Amino acid sequence: MSGTDVKLVLRSTRVVTPEGTRPAAVHVAGGTIDAVLPYDAEAPEGARVEDLGDDVLLPGLVDTHVHVNDPGRSEWEGFYTATRAAAAGGITTLLDMPLNSLPPTTTVEHLRVKQQVAAPKVHVDTGFWGGAVPSNVKDLRPLYEAGVFGFKCFLSPSGVEEFPELDQEQLARSMAEIAGFGGLLIVHAEDPHHLAAAPQRGGPAYADFLASRPRDAENTAIEGLIGHAKRLNARVHVLHLSSSDALPLIAAAKREGVRVTVESCPHFLTLTAEEVPDGATEFKCCPPIREAANQDALWQGLADGTIDCIVSDHSPCTTDLKTPDFASAWGGISSLQLGLPAIWTEARRRGHSLDDVARWMSAAPAALAGLHHKGAIEPGRDADFAVLAPDATFTVDPAELFHRNQVTAYAGRTLHGVVRSTWLRGVRIAAEGVLAEPTGRLQTRNN
Ligand SMILES: [Zn+2]
Repeated sequence: MSGTDVKLVLRSTRVVTPEGTRPAAVHVAGGTIDAVLPYDAEAPEGARVEDLGDDVLLPGLVDTHVHVNDPGRSEWEGFYTATRAAAAGGITTLLDMPLNSLPPTTTVEHLRVKQQVAAPKVHVDTGFWGGAVPSNVKDLRPLYEAGVFGFKCFLSPSGVEEFPELDQEQLARSMAEIAGFGGLLIVHAEDPHHLAAAPQRGGPAYADFLASRPRDAENTAIEGLIGHAKRLNARVHVLHLSSSDALPLIAAAKREGVRVTVESCPHFLTLTAEEVPDGATEFKCCPPIREAANQDALWQGLADGTIDCIVSDHSPCTTDLKTPDFASAWGGISSLQLGLPAIWTEARRRGHSLDDVARWMSAAPAALAGLHHKGAIEPGRDADFAVLAPDATFTVDPAELFHRNQVTAYAGRTLHGVVRSTWLRGVRIAAEGVLAEPTGRLQTRNN
């Protein structure tokens, strides 16, 4: 499509494109970006022109790590509420994790159940990861053919009994199976033996919780994972990296050509162990938020490309499960709506640009999942955008969050970057905290 089919033109003095940020006019036709032209290019006749002024036009964020928990634990979160929060936060595509819902996404039949529940409720485009558990090696290929984007596994207990972890032999078997059809295995990498050997004191002290999830557990698991990936020539992705000690071995593996990618999360990059109050289990997640020096090293890993992307790992629960005991409280941090401002606040302080943020939070996760029609403002991609006022600030009020349970580790923080509006395939789906009816589409790997 081109020219006369263009129905919408979005102009901004700061459009974030893969070649950098510049004044531009983005022409949209049929939900797709038709052209990115100079700011003052003449709009086609009959097109609606929206001038965003100095507000930044970013590609819509792609969040490949979200626990929606629907159906089965929808009192924790659900597709309607999670995708509202996503839309309000500038996210236009999310991928749902295979566990914490009932059923878990471990068979084609289960995937169909989840798709059916999600379809009428999603405000943003939504797809699914499958799960790799000890009993479902035979289900992996059919799931892939049914459209999951890859497979998640655990190496240590997941926290829910219907989603058991893989031992090293099972890991190798699942990885070989997945590599056989060119799929991607994404891994919660904490080694169970190191966890079992760590002191498990429990109670409200954050220092005790931190000691119970040592860096070595991550480092060892990642080292093993890289070994398997190398031997099997498999593609693996390390989920929610917290231990910066693992960065040198990941960097070395990448240099050697091992097909490994890595994500980290807003909480590891913006919150520190030193500031977590005792008993504040809204800060509990596994692996845990570590010390400030660790956070500095993670930012270095982002800067030098060892860490590929930043995704939320939004993993909510009901308020009553966040007891003040770190051992028994449910682990998971809710940040779907806040990831962009949280990261931008810290990124700007550290001298990074919105080009970097767009790469980490949109282009790289889209590439990871193979969502080639998402993740950048360039012709041919979906017209998915987040409009950000980067210098405006706000203080996080849990009452203004759209996810189901308004528990958040960010309460009371003042953040830079207000999402003015979010656009999905050329339609404004969120504006100043007002959400449209759901128009998201289910995504499959092969659609
Ligand atoms: Zn997760």
